[in-house]
Amino acid sequence: MKVAIVGAGAMGSLFGGLLAESGQAVWLLDVWSEHVDAINAKGLMVEWQGETRRVDIKATTTPAEIGSADLIVIFVKSTQTRAASSAAAGLIHSDSLVLTLQNGMGNADVIAEFIDSDRVLAGTTAYGATLLGPGSIRHAGKGPTIIGMWSGRNPDVALRVADVLAGAGIATETVEDVRSVVWGKLLINVGINAITALTGIKNGELLDLTSTQEISRRAVEEAVSVAKAQGISVRDDAVEHVFEIARATAVNRSSMGQDVDHGRITEIEAINGVIVKEGARLGIDTPVNQTLTGLIETLQAHY
Ligand code: NAD
Repeated sequence: MKVAIVGAGAMGSLFGGLLAESGQAVWLLDVWSEHVDAINAKGLMVEWQGETRRVDIKATTTPAEIGSADLIVIFVKSTQTRAASSAAAGLIHSDSLVLTLQNGMGNADVIAEFIDSDRVLAGTTAYGATLLGPGSIRHAGKGPTIIGMWSGRNPDVALRVADVLAGAGIATETVEDVRSVVWGKLLINVGINAITALTGIKNGELLDLTSTQEISRRAVEEAVSVAKAQGISVRDDAVEHVFEIARATAVNRSSMGQDVDHGRITEIEAINGVIVKEGARLGIDTPVNQTLTGLIETLQAHY
């Protein structure tokens, strides 16, 4: 299968590298020319559990060099999904499929503006990766990947894509109701990311004080109300689940925390920002998410 990864940073390079090692014909597409040049010159270097291996894989900054692809995986940050989808639209043929495993809500809908929604797959992954420098990533962790058709139709197509991922060692489950799965991950990000980003704390430290727990609880409860108003089924113990994840990832700094630490634009708009926007549309008050979003936007405006 010909695979194009659009956004070959930490996660795109990881998935692209694993798929290439499993024998798929993979192209990495990224706007970062230094990274692309390093991969073409010296291969993609993947560090995993202290050992680094080289993966030979083609990379480009030019979509036309790729031609069309059977599977396109969008792995840019959610702020860049529109630009990446526009590039992806140039890579599709009549049977192409497009998969997003990005964090946040709204990515699949943006992709579906460019590509027939029956060809869009979404999901979540517990894999983790860090960008070390041009041409070099660290594979930070493994865990389940869950995918499904964004339209809810043609579940056999999701099975085919899951097989391709599983062939690369990425254990993948398919579900019919993938929106609930993406919402489930969103609730975790809503409860952890902005708070840790604003305060400089690690995930586990969110549980140290009742005051931080309470902010997280209220942010998640607002998000649950918005999800339910949209007919999304979410777990009854959503807040406790967020706390469990904070405990399980206690020593990690959230991705939004890392973005703020490095003065990068965060995915706030697709996380707490979505709760505010959807809350306004549905007539649900979301004061905590509004505050968190406003504070992160203020930080970003003053980098
Ligand atoms: P990243 O910043 O490492 O990589 C994004 C890449 O996209 C960069 O290399 C950037 O140059 C490229 N890019 C930007 N605009 C582009 C465009 N228009 N066309 C092509 N390439 C473009 O980000 P990441 O950590 O790999 O995260 C990607 C997504 O995956 C995010 O939504 C993130 O929340 C999610 N995610 C990350 C992890 C993780 O461990 N890093 C885990 C799960 C989910």
